[in-house]
Amino acid sequence: MSDSIKKDAVERPVNFIRNIINEDLEAQKHQIIRTRFPPEPNGYLHIGHAKSICLNFGLAVDYQGECNLRFDDTNPAKEDMEFVESIKQDVEWLGFHWAGDVCYSSNYFERFYQAAVELIQKGLAYVCFLSSEETREYRGSLKEPGKDSPYRNTSPEENLALFEKMRAGGFKEGECVLRAKIDMASSFMCMRDPTLFRVRFEHHHQTGDEWCIYPMYDFAHCISDAVEGVTHSLCTLEFQDNRRLYDWVLDNLDEFNKPDRPRQYEFSRLNLEYTVMSKRKLHQLVADKLVEGWDDPRMPTISGMRRRGYTPASLRDFAERIGISKVDSMTEMGILEAAIRDDLNVVAPRTMAVIDPIKVIIENYPEGQVESIQAPVHPQNETMGKREIFFGKEIYIDRADFQPEAPNRKFMRLALDKEVRLRNSYIIKGERFETDADGNVTTVYATYDPETLGKNPADGRKVKGVIHFVEASKAVPAEIRIYDRLFTVANPAKEDDFESVINPESLVIKQGLVEPSMVNAKPELAYQFEREGYFCRDNKITDKLVFNKTVGLRDVWAKK
Ligand code: ATP
Ligand code: MG
Repeated sequence: MSDSIKKDAVERPVNFIRNIINEDLEAQKHQIIRTRFPPEPNGYLHIGHAKSICLNFGLAVDYQGECNLRFDDTNPAKEDMEFVESIKQDVEWLGFHWAGDVCYSSNYFERFYQAAVELIQKGLAYVCFLSSEETREYRGSLKEPGKDSPYRNTSPEENLALFEKMRAGGFKEGECVLRAKIDMASSFMCMRDPTLFRVRFEHHHQTGDEWCIYPMYDFAHCISDAVEGVTHSLCTLEFQDNRRLYDWVLDNLDEFNKPDRPRQYEFSRLNLEYTVMSKRKLHQLVADKLVEGWDDPRMPTISGMRRRGYTPASLRDFAERIGISKVDSMTEMGILEAAIRDDLNVVAPRTMAVIDPIKVIIENYPEGQVESIQAPVHPQNETMGKREIFFGKEIYIDRADFQPEAPNRKFMRLALDKEVRLRNSYIIKGERFETDADGNVTTVYATYDPETLGKNPADGRKVKGVIHFVEASKAVPAEIRIYDRLFTVANPAKEDDFESVINPESLVIKQGLVEPSMVNAKPELAYQFEREGYFCRDNKITDKLVFNKTVGLRDVWAKK
């Protein structure tokens, strides 16, 4: 495990969960801290999951405890092995290790069944034959108490027989469910005799056709936690009410009703501006082909962000920056981008790429000559060494870096009769230019000062502007994909049709030119394209050179 993960627990900012753990340890309630990350394998993980992963696995690292990876696979209809594999890969990529083997809630199906039998025997659960519509009616509302089901007082013996019959496939889907007998007048709706088991004739990716009854989340989750010896079960705030049910189930099962049994604590989920986080919505974007797939670099998925050039360290750092609380909020994109920028600024090698090229001909440079120049890989870090770049009679600069007439004295780029420094190279001066029939600049003619390679002009002329370039004969064509926020509004989930507010300019593809050494660029390794931003080679497309823009050099969100 890397050192940045293994920071001493005391160095990290305290939060309410750490306070609880510290108190529990002081009171000697637990020998070891055990957490778990419990994804449902029905989609790819997103940045919200990364927050939960960093919290759960991070606590285990800091307290020298353990964190389980448990697939919450109690709903066979929506789940898939593709998602299981991608989730494992994402957790490992983030730099974390789960304790022992991967766990599956489905490993405990027999245990859930036995727990239900125990509740039935204690008169705390019953098989109910109300239709789903009737069940809804009987449940009441926030203002009105519910009504008892007519099946509520069936004897334990009869319920046991019915439940066995449910397991044996003796009832159709929807015909009956097993319900907890709690309190139909509870002010917590989840306590009004919630369903524990239902009938589903579905093939399950782990247990095949062995089961035709499946437990509900609220029943399965707390028992899974208890079976695994989880001490602190951390989930998001929408499960706050369900904590009553979590406690009720464990308190009523003899094996688990102990002082050191797991306890649930809730924290606020991550909401990030200009994107959506619900798996249902992410599924929809993929299904409707509005993105290329789950790993489209515009997606807030871990695989998408990885493809875009985000590093594991930057996502862990982001999780620390946003912290853990119980306050519901929207996190600004700028915080995420600052985390990756701060990481890459230190480590990313520099290179020059011209994203929207126009040709510049250096009139006083010898025909046919190309010279090699040693440029630093990182201007602030000499140990990263030098790279070879080239200069010659024909070069390319970015279209935005030339204007025939400088609009004002602050213009720091190339103009006619104005000097500018080429990054890592000579000073050149604009002389004249040609345009096409529409008036677009096609070629700029310039002269260079041969005495200015790596030094200022001897006569004391001040040249302040610096622009980047590539030498024409050595430059390599590359496709450069520039991403912007995926949605045009900060909270797309609030829209009636969130797909209607997709940003049509969230992906702009440019055909640019890069330094020759970039043909060897490794996927996912960040480069700073000087003056442009951070980019990495695409990790999927191999038949051509494609670079994804990770993030710009400055925070542009503040202005938007
Ligand atoms: P979604 O609502 O996107 O479908 P989910 O909560 O159903 O997500 P799970 O696979 O059940 O997805 O989530 C696994 C874990 O990740 C849970 O403990 C859940 O609380 C946590 N989690 C999911 N989304 C977020 C989020 N936005 N912020 C923090 N934690 C999250
Ligand atoms: Mg869930």
